[in-house]
Amino acid sequence: MSAFEPPPLADEVELAAPPALVPGAMAHSRPYVAAPAHNQALGFPAERVPDWERRAVEKLGELLERSRALRVFLDSCVKCGACADKCHFFIGTGDPNNMPVARQDLLRSLYRRHFTVAGRLLGRHVGARDMDEALLQEWYTYFHQCTQCRRCSVFCPFGIDTAEISMAAREIMDAIGLGQKYSNEIIGKVHKIGNNLGLPEPALANTLEGLEEDVLEQSGAAVKFPLDVHGADVLLVTPSADFFAEPHVDGLIGYAKVFHQAGISWTLSSHASEAANFALFIGSYEQMHKIAQRIRQAAVELGVKRIVFGECGHAWRVAYAFLNTLAGPWDFLDPAYPVPQHIVEVTHELIRRRGIVLDRDANAGKTVTFHDSCNVARASRMGDAPGGQFVLPREVIKAAVPSFVDMHRDTTHDRTFCCGGGGGLLTDDLLELRIKGARPRMQALKEVVEQQGVTHMAAICAICKTQFAKVLPAYGFPMEMVVSLHQLVGQAIRLG
Ligand code: SF4
Ligand code: SF4
Repeated sequence: MSAFEPPPLADEVELAAPPALVPGAMAHSRPYVAAPAHNQALGFPAERVPDWERRAVEKLGELLERSRALRVFLDSCVKCGACADKCHFFIGTGDPNNMPVARQDLLRSLYRRHFTVAGRLLGRHVGARDMDEALLQEWYTYFHQCTQCRRCSVFCPFGIDTAEISMAAREIMDAIGLGQKYSNEIIGKVHKIGNNLGLPEPALANTLEGLEEDVLEQSGAAVKFPLDVHGADVLLVTPSADFFAEPHVDGLIGYAKVFHQAGISWTLSSHASEAANFALFIGSYEQMHKIAQRIRQAAVELGVKRIVFGECGHAWRVAYAFLNTLAGPWDFLDPAYPVPQHIVEVTHELIRRRGIVLDRDANAGKTVTFHDSCNVARASRMGDAPGGQFVLPREVIKAAVPSFVDMHRDTTHDRTFCCGGGGGLLTDDLLELRIKGARPRMQALKEVVEQQGVTHMAAICAICKTQFAKVLPAYGFPMEMVVSLHQLVGQAIRLG
């Protein structure tokens, strides 16, 4: 139960209506600061460095050297306002600091002060600010109210990407010793143990054995959940949430049934037992690289031929956009398959050539809608055709269930609204923000539930699924409404 009332949903869909302004409404919302040990484990300063104001400016200079895009984003805003009402956190809170342009300006003000002639000469008259405690606190507060979902960039005539600006600001804060507890702690667990949950190999093996018993009991089929099997064709890298929590674990059962029915040998790895790469959220290439290297090491050691990613939005974004740079070349894998592949691509292809057979009647009574996860919809692709990231998941769902309904077009495909928990914000210290940020998605869901009888909402992201399980009840929906896409697939595969 949340300690506050979420904003009520409107009777009519009012997606375009800007919220009433409530200045400072979310000024109190900030995540816990990382402990010195969490920062040090990642090689960041344990705590605030001496002369941190100067170091912040220096780090910004380094990032501008590394990324021309960042400089362009900071230079090119014309304050047209097109992005202002496109952020779910602004819509859900009314706090003007959650307008994407206002969020950008927190970093832009420091950039102007030190990296533009006008800012050096005219200071505050041109929106330039020095780094000081007040600015840093605004950064920590409002750069942790951005899920880096990129919806605002879709509407910006210059394509300014607030997610990149948010990542840069978090990278600067880590460089001066002001890290965020949730993200830094999780990255440390992956480096040490291999997954976000800190699940060691014996516990993982035990969990997988239990799943084999459950599936045998339910379906009568000896479906395997292999771990560290040398010579398997496929290495499946999946979010660790898939190993234990609902509805994620039903998705894992779905993957296993797909491989089982298609006769594909596969394995999980105890070394690379995590698809998620939270280093993306803090903008750290070095940390991203270190996490991605575990996948390469596992693939080499196990001698697999293909690498397939499970249902995780930002993991797919990192894999799709950066895996070849972070951990390639992949010359030891089978060249017949792209690297990496998404499990939805694999399942879609198998359905197309009847390598697996789905029975929609097994999902009788379900009317399903689909939540496009931001990192899949706006930051990656699937399949060969343009827009495959929208088409493939929908076609797989339609093959698995008797009835499919899309939500309002302004909330799907590349205009999808974030679940409200991405970007390293899926922590209970930000629960109020998460619930308020979920409002636009809940509003669109309400419409299809009431008008078209939708019973379930499928997602292909571990963060989305966890977030929805938490926020659906706050808006009067049952938490079981959110399902894994491969949960529907698994239920439609009849074995035995
Ligand atoms: S990236 Fe997403 S969360 Fe961040 S400002 Fe833009 S719309 Fe808001
Ligand atoms: S839409 Fe782009 S140019 Fe317009 S205010 Fe937003 S960031 Fe600036």
